[in-house]
Amino acid sequence: MKKILKSITKSYILLFCILITVSIIILPLMFTQKFIIENSIKKINVEVQKDLSQTIDYGVKYKTINLLHRNDNTVETIELEEYLVNVLAAEMPVDYELEALKAQATVARTYTLYQIENGKKHENSDMCDSSECCQAWISKEKRFESWKENQEEKWNKLKEAVYSCSGDIITYNGKPIDAFFHSNSGGKTELPVNVWGGTDYPYLQAVETSGEDEYSQYYSEIEYTKTEIEEKMKKSYEDFSINWQENNCIEILEYTEGERIKTIKIGNQNIAGVEARKIFSLRSSNFTFEISEENVKFKVIGYGHGVGLSQTGSNTLAKEGKNYIEIIKHFYQNIEIENIK
Ligand SMILES: [Zn+2]
Repeated sequence: MKKILKSITKSYILLFCILITVSIIILPLMFTQKFIIENSIKKINVEVQKDLSQTIDYGVKYKTINLLHRNDNTVETIELEEYLVNVLAAEMPVDYELEALKAQATVARTYTLYQIENGKKHENSDMCDSSECCQAWISKEKRFESWKENQEEKWNKLKEAVYSCSGDIITYNGKPIDAFFHSNSGGKTELPVNVWGGTDYPYLQAVETSGEDEYSQYYSEIEYTKTEIEEKMKKSYEDFSINWQENNCIEILEYTEGERIKTIKIGNQNIAGVEARKIFSLRSSNFTFEISEENVKFKVIGYGHGVGLSQTGSNTLAKEGKNYIEIIKHFYQNIEIENIK
């Protein structure tokens, strides 16, 4: 009996020793080994991808983004593609053709990366949800409120648009482009230099787009009394004056490459077409005017600054059977579509 007890105690001591050895020496070694292996895999992957693209490894860097919600000042970490579904929901009508939605999704993805790479506007987040500042974004709940019917079906269409071109961005010289877009070009897009000044972009030329006149965004009118015109001008130009009796009291002096007004004379001031657009809240700087006894009526063609992709133009191209890459290549020149995943 004593012998049996002694042998059991011995086995326990042996087992204890084995356990100590395993926990103190072998287990940590295994973890360290695992860690080293995992780390080196990651490093190898990053380097391989870097070599392939010869630029930054966007796929690893931008799987998620930090989105600032302006209404409550909270920051949400969100998967990039998931973020883009809500951006698309805010930026393009869901009843547009799938290929047009894919083109817009690719533009939004490119714009997001460009913004992050070329100077974020916010300290603790990559983008905010305001169209005035970074890029429009709308919550699923809020979008559903305005859709009324077939909400899930519509949302799935947006998801299909984003995920079927997942990771695609527009690049020039291996870097994401500044992917401007607007609602309706009025038939021809515009050079950025005519809108914001500065230098031109090799991938943003003035291109013609047919079918723009089929949309409600194509044509608009806005009318002001002569007194209102004077008041609005004086807000920007204190010494503004106008003699309404003169034949050329308002006169278009010069047009841009995109066939919008470059310079217009209003009374004693020569101002840029884009400036007139701002002062009189016009949809674009492509306009004519009619002066009557009491009023001035502006007749405006197109909607937006006219630079880059036209949304309605994209929809027309999609209806003609063009795919999203062909649509993108119509509006942006000398570019490549690359995948960041
Ligand atoms: Zn912002």
